[in-house]
Amino acid sequence: MARTSPTEVTGYRNDGVGTAVALVNAVTADAGDPSPEALGALLASYNFKVDGPVSDDEAEALRRWARRLRPVFAETDEARAIDLLNGVMAEVPMHPHISDHGEGPHLHYGPPGAVLVDRIRANTAVGLAFVICELGAARLGVCLDAACERVYADVSRGPRRRYCSKTCLNRNTVAAYRARRASAPA
Ligand SMILES: [Zn+2]
Ligand SMILES: [Zn+2]
Repeated sequence: MARTSPTEVTGYRNDGVGTAVALVNAVTADAGDPSPEALGALLASYNFKVDGPVSDDEAEALRRWARRLRPVFAETDEARAIDLLNGVMAEVPMHPHISDHGEGPHLHYGPPGAVLVDRIRANTAVGLAFVICELGAARLGVCLDAACERVYADVSRGPRRRYCSKTCLNRNTVAAYRARRASAPA
């Protein structure tokens, strides 16, 4: 799985941007696995402290959250994307504070002692807000591949991406090349 550096965009030890992308894809893309077990493994892989198995209620709350975030990726108008994300952020308990649980001082966005789902919500929402403010809403998108439903966040310095992965990019590059050859005069 392609992973951006956790500190690249948000300066936070958990990669809120990567978590948002992975969560939205797990829940809203065809090939995703939104089961409690898969969501728990996903969050642990992004360094969230997951104390026990993710419960059915937590999984349902995470799935609801992923479905709230997806339109922020899908919206192509920056002002509307900002409105959407501001609306979403207003639903999340925020209480920025510096925490140090053996990892060195770093910023937490949710209230001290926030439950897992609220930590995920605060972290992913703020992560996406940093992308929009620092790089522009166009860096959040849905894969251009007609058959792919995955979202992406492009936090690279290079030209902006249009596909969720190299796999989708390559498939479409090859298809476009073949289409050009087929339509070229013999
Ligand atoms: Zn922490
Ligand atoms: Zn794709």
